[in-house]
Amino acid sequence: MDKKEKYLLINAGSSSFKFALYEMPGDKEIVNGVFERIGDERSSYTLKYNNQKVSKNAPIKNHKEAAFTMIDELLNNNFIADVNEIASVGHRVLLGGEKYKEPTIIDEELMEYITELSELVPLHHPGQIAGIRAMQEVLPNVPMVAVFDNTFHRTMPAENYHYAIDERWLNKFGIRKYGFHGISYQYITETMQRYFNKRNVRLIVCHIGSGASVCCIRNGQSFDTTMGLTPLAGIVMGTRCGDVSADALHAMFMKEKKLQESLGVKVDGVALENKIYRQLNMESGLKGLSGNNDFRDIERLVKVGDYEAIRARKMFINSIIKYISYYYSQLHGSVDALVFTAGIGENSDSLRRDILNEISYTIPVELNDEENKIIGGRNEKKSGVISTADSLFPVMVIPTNEESIILRDTYELYHQYKIENPELFEENSKVLKK
Ligand code: ADP
Repeated sequence: MDKKEKYLLINAGSSSFKFALYEMPGDKEIVNGVFERIGDERSSYTLKYNNQKVSKNAPIKNHKEAAFTMIDELLNNNFIADVNEIASVGHRVLLGGEKYKEPTIIDEELMEYITELSELVPLHHPGQIAGIRAMQEVLPNVPMVAVFDNTFHRTMPAENYHYAIDERWLNKFGIRKYGFHGISYQYITETMQRYFNKRNVRLIVCHIGSGASVCCIRNGQSFDTTMGLTPLAGIVMGTRCGDVSADALHAMFMKEKKLQESLGVKVDGVALENKIYRQLNMESGLKGLSGNNDFRDIERLVKVGDYEAIRARKMFINSIIKYISYYYSQLHGSVDALVFTAGIGENSDSLRRDILNEISYTIPVELNDEENKIIGGRNEKKSGVISTADSLFPVMVIPTNEESIILRDTYELYHQYKIENPELFEENSKVLKK
């Protein structure tokens, strides 16, 4: 029998640090947790294991403190007896850019490259890099793996990833569509490949959570997706604006500059540009339209007739329908399944109902209302078909599981690395203890 090994998965944000400890082989989750409000006086963390939830308030100044506290908790609760039990650590990284098209063992070259990419994705990479650096300090001898959110979209054809701007922007600065939620789309694709027992599945997948996108999958590969250079583009999201005219940023900048100048404020162009960029990412979408970014709040307000919530929900739905219809035509109407996943897609039967009823005018699918109502939310049933047998293709709800993909990639890459570099794993090796 294979020797049991432990693996940590890390998903770091600018002020958060999520982790999960697994035992492999067997994909057994031992504990997961999250540090929140890192750097803030109100920082806290939560551990979940054996159906228990333990929350603690603690001053966590930075990602390094979060990482050390996490290891202390793992040791104190006997989740690990020794840090040497941890074989490898898988990090979720947003963007691998033009260079990293597969999960990769983290080295300084990779760190330099993803640090450079921070210019393109300033809201994501600094936190993720801080998470990796923190783990490297805590576990200096452990090889770690970066699993990228855009990898799945490496198969998009040029006509789908190019922007209609001078080629130099792509060739010199990497300005193009990369696409995200790739780890989730990978999971859904593999699940559907098993379901239909074929590799060349043709799918339209709606990953609708707080961050949201739609993906067109042709022959088991990403053909197109709604997010672009960063996760900002595409459909309306919890706090992101989705598609807006590219000149809106410039117009907002000029208007705000003029306003500040009229108030006698000395304008710092870079700070102002950053402020607007953050607004488009963090204060827009459902939040900008209605003051609420949690979809449960929107649905509650819709029920009491709140105009702004009704408008926000309509715009949200319209933006999703637009892409489902477009991808349906890109797939020439030959679709194996339309899939809903992630927080809202898995749980909001009313959103699924309204989307299906709307698209049924042009796409021959019909809602099975009873089935739709009993999937997700508080129901025990979490997945299944929500369309009638008369529909051209099944419409399905499938819970996503991004961790399982990161875990598998980390496990496989670690073992491959071990085979390719046996000298690093010898007893007494100065490089790695394992
Ligand atoms: P992300 O991973 O991008 O943070 P999630 O996939 O966790 O987002 O989805 C979060 C969203 O799911 C929130 O808007 C939340 O309101 C919504 N959600 C969760 N449960 C339900 C539910 N039962 N009904 C409607 N929306 C839900």
